[in-house]
Amino acid sequence: MSDRYGELMQSSIGRKVAKNLGLPVPIKLDRYEAGQPILRGEVALGLSQGDDASVRALLGEYLIALDAKVATNQGDDYPAKSTSLESRLSDENARFKVAIFDATNIRSADELKQVYDFFHPIARRIKSSGRIIIIARPECCTGTDVGFALAQRAVLGFTKSIAKEFKKGITAQVLYVQKGAESELPHTLDFFISAKSAYVSAQPITIRKSQADTADELNGKKVLVTGASRGIGKAIAQVLAREGAKVYCLDVPQSLADLQAVAGEIGGHALPLDITATDAAEQIIKACGKLDGVVHNAGVTRDKTLANMSEEQWNLVMNINLAAIARINDYLLSHDGLSAQARIVCVSSISGIAGNLGQSNYAMSKAGVIGLVEATAKLLSDSARTINAVAPGFIETKMTGQIPFAIREAGRRMNSMSQGGEPVDVAETIAWMLSPKAGGINGNIVRVCGQSVLGA
Ligand code: NAP
Repeated sequence: MSDRYGELMQSSIGRKVAKNLGLPVPIKLDRYEAGQPILRGEVALGLSQGDDASVRALLGEYLIALDAKVATNQGDDYPAKSTSLESRLSDENARFKVAIFDATNIRSADELKQVYDFFHPIARRIKSSGRIIIIARPECCTGTDVGFALAQRAVLGFTKSIAKEFKKGITAQVLYVQKGAESELPHTLDFFISAKSAYVSAQPITIRKSQADTADELNGKKVLVTGASRGIGKAIAQVLAREGAKVYCLDVPQSLADLQAVAGEIGGHALPLDITATDAAEQIIKACGKLDGVVHNAGVTRDKTLANMSEEQWNLVMNINLAAIARINDYLLSHDGLSAQARIVCVSSISGIAGNLGQSNYAMSKAGVIGLVEATAKLLSDSARTINAVAPGFIETKMTGQIPFAIREAGRRMNSMSQGGEPVDVAETIAWMLSPKAGGINGNIVRVCGQSVLGA
């Protein structure tokens, strides 16, 4: 769907008018193209002072493997070939595409000053579509150590604020990595440093120790995507096929022509099926065999205020968006329908987090998806399988194209990027979660919303 205002803002005259009127000015976000390197510019690296060297060591190896140009607050030569950040900043033209700060050694309110000391001098030096990443410890590590816990939680407030301030398509996240799970970091760093995470910002991500074989690839893995004939589902199928997955594209039988076109284009399989059919899961196993991944993307809206909502509208939304997912997961898990390292990803919505006028049915179903994911993640935690959810904000699809113009325009601009996301932004996030390398990502609910103000 076209965003005429966003397009106008790409011209200098459009930007001038918007600036004078105090209107939001969306910039064109960098988006990943096949073959593009993960890292697209210089890195500023900050390391907090302390004895825990586990994240520091991992980051050193990681940046060397990327052959990154690094300026660090540790002085010269950490990691090898890096320069001192202080001397680098004396060059007024020095700019950074990525800033990474290891906060895992910060254990008190006073020590949080290190965050200011690192970020203050580079605050105006981050390039457009730049990436800010803070690495911290989750609650399971900080326990009842109050100083440690307050400091590790505090960096999230800081991160959410600079994600709003820095603008220019710059994103910021906190990666909460469990002690001992540092080897799980590179896969997640790859996603958040690259252009693949264009519309994901201000997210806390928890990374735990995994029992999965992290050397495995998505290549050749069998993945089912529901609602794949158009919109976000189509983009998910395309991105997973790009990564080498064998994709089973499911949608309602009425969409067979579109479904076959998508499956044909990516060398996948079309599976015309209504996910609310009582034997849907049985049909899925029959058609696909044992699956390595399932993406529960199919969903509908039937918006009405509760007073005006028919029982049919209520039932339809609850059944497709929530009950069918629960039934299919139960069946696949209890009938050997998933491989030992299978990944499940559900598509929730920020409506399920914030609620929305006229969407009591939809918001209830999408909040239920979050409950389903969190409980199932606990069930899977002693296995190599995972389940996670994405919660998209305003994404440019047929679904949002049906929203009345004024509400649509407000929804599109009410985020730190001042624009709607593209289906591919959700798809790239799902591909990161679906990878065999994402064994440490379990039970995360990740918003793909450009830091929407709703429910933040
Ligand atoms: P979309 O363009 O409407 O595509 C959804 C697809 O799912 C349609 O092809 C739809 O078919 C299919 N579907 C519906 N019921 C089904 C059933 N019972 N069995 C199999 N397939 C079924 O929607 P979208 O915008 O791409 O959204 C995809 C997902 O993201 C949904 O879960 C949605 O709630 C979620 N989401 C979207 C946004 C956004 O801004 N677009 C924001 C937050 C969350 P029909 O033609 O029959 O409807």
